[in-house]
Amino acid sequence: MNSSWTIEDSEDLYGVNRWGAGYFSIGENGNIQVSPNHRKPEVGIDMAEVLAEMKAEGIQFPAVIRFHDILRSQVEILNETFRDTIAEAEYEGQYIGVYPIKVNQMREVVEEILDAGEPYNYGLEAGSKPELMAVMAYNDNPDALTILNGYKDEDYLTMALLGRQLQRKMIVVIEKFSELEMLMRLAKKYNVEPMIGLRSKMMVKSTGKWSSSSGDRAKFGLSIAEIVNAIDYLKQHDMLHCAKLLHFHIGSQLSDIRKIKEAVIEGARLYAKLHQMGVPLEYLDIGGGLGIDYDGSSSTTDSSRNYSTEEYVADIVYSVKQICDLEKVPHPNLVSESGRVITAHHSMVVTNVVGEVSVTGTEFDISPEDGEHVLVTNMRELVNAPEMHPQERYNDAAAYKQSTYEAFKLGILTIVEMAKIDTMYWQILTDIEQSLDEDTRQIQELDDIGNRLASQYLANFSIFQSAADTWAIGQLLPIVPLQRLNEEPNIRCSIADITCDSDGKIGKYIEHNQISENIPMHRLKKDEEYTIGMFLTGAYQDVMGDMHNLFGRLTEVHIFSHDEEPGAFYIEEIVPGHSAEKVLEAMQYNTDYMAKVVKKSIDREIRQGKIPPREGVRWTDFYERCLAGTTYLSSGN
Ligand SMILES: *Cc1c(COP(=O)(O)O)cnc(C)c1O
Repeated sequence: MNSSWTIEDSEDLYGVNRWGAGYFSIGENGNIQVSPNHRKPEVGIDMAEVLAEMKAEGIQFPAVIRFHDILRSQVEILNETFRDTIAEAEYEGQYIGVYPIKVNQMREVVEEILDAGEPYNYGLEAGSKPELMAVMAYNDNPDALTILNGYKDEDYLTMALLGRQLQRKMIVVIEKFSELEMLMRLAKKYNVEPMIGLRSKMMVKSTGKWSSSSGDRAKFGLSIAEIVNAIDYLKQHDMLHCAKLLHFHIGSQLSDIRKIKEAVIEGARLYAKLHQMGVPLEYLDIGGGLGIDYDGSSSTTDSSRNYSTEEYVADIVYSVKQICDLEKVPHPNLVSESGRVITAHHSMVVTNVVGEVSVTGTEFDISPEDGEHVLVTNMRELVNAPEMHPQERYNDAAAYKQSTYEAFKLGILTIVEMAKIDTMYWQILTDIEQSLDEDTRQIQELDDIGNRLASQYLANFSIFQSAADTWAIGQLLPIVPLQRLNEEPNIRCSIADITCDSDGKIGKYIEHNQISENIPMHRLKKDEEYTIGMFLTGAYQDVMGDMHNLFGRLTEVHIFSHDEEPGAFYIEEIVPGHSAEKVLEAMQYNTDYMAKVVKKSIDREIRQGKIPPREGVRWTDFYERCLAGTTYLSSGN
């Protein structure tokens, strides 16, 4: 073990500062530190203290931790960056953003964002009827916008008209021409003037996972011809003055600033031309897409972005200004629907490693025996041949292993011989891996041995519930041990979850400046809990999870920072996770009935004298307690 390992080495390895955006770092004591308030970077919270307090409260792993100050900070940073850039550019419109709640609809998240956004009249965006019901009740600031996207039916549109009756700035964005016809009919019926937005299908071809959000075949939006028709249609109905906003959204997690700029230029030009045609547009809504640097590489990989929020904002403000000045039209108010950037950092999943699955971990006596099969002897010779060239040694070992398998199928090898050969095979691979130098590492097959030897750390969570995008679209989320970062991590491993699904594994990690299939972690100690954090789960992951294997929602811990509290934080709220009962009920089970059936069976055994009555009661209670309990692995109490 290398005792000169420092926290700087851990930083270099896990890249906490590179993706942490100033909120996360490694403390002198080797624990992850959180500085949740961008205005008070000196206030640091030690994750070990958070975990200790959670333990004191009886909260079990896994849990979601929400840092409300991070949410507030992100709202402030986005709004203030726009405000400052607009002032500096002498831009004549305002920034009036909205938070798209689909990114994280949790009530506490939405409330916190609205509260932090109030000084900036920050509003909300909805993309479906239930989301509209939520924003209707929560965004009652008459100066903030409510933007309504997504496909709409009569109820959806009627609800928007109700919003207008309540003096809200509720803008219906027309995604498809028929919505306009329906809206006109309803507006006349209820005699309410709607505020109308037009979503344009964009010509710019964006890149990344969501590239199909733009282009001719995009699912949403109007083509240029449809926009011109919509304007004629509005004129015919004497409603052109209701057309207030032009909208586009070319996809989420835009990694390349050049595509963003291209889209903004296209959108601004379209705004200018429409304005010149007499459409009284007041807002240009540039959608979402502001990315997160999940892998810390500041590049155009799918999990990164090659720009800062300042650069994003400056490109938008200056590009729109330039085009409007050239086209001699007023500067529109700028709207963005940034979701990911507002919520990604504020939540993380913490959990414990409950075990290790290793190919090399089992001890087995490999000593020679009289009359053993020649394959066993051959493999043993390879064990004792460190002088061989690694490639040759590897080839031989692989060939013996293959022959062993064939021999076993033919019934030639005993199960003990098989076990010996297997044990020796992994010993040889471990030995080869350790002997590799710069030259031999150039050989792909040999370099890959490290991955094959990697252990799997079993983490008490379900990626289908807590990190759906790592499975669905290969999203990278940083995973870092929460403690011992001043110790050298000397075992390579990957993280597997506790679902029965072979896909329940994390396949991408940050290692130095690269993406790796596994990651160095610390060896587990017998009586010490090893906790890991999965970071940047606040956008989409928090709310997209499913119930694969009936692992339900996690317990949530809501944290506020406070300089005067011990540890500089306090737990404001604990939201219990789903019990087994709750997830079963979601699948139409009647848990009262289930408890009754089990109790009946126990009672029958009692009557027959097979279970003593007192014990029977205990078993009945146990079943009921488990129904009410956690779906995840419980650490005993
Ligand atoms: C999903 C979505 C957003 C949010 O995008 P982010 O990249 O998370 O900021 C904004 N607008 C629309 C129309 C969306 O569909």
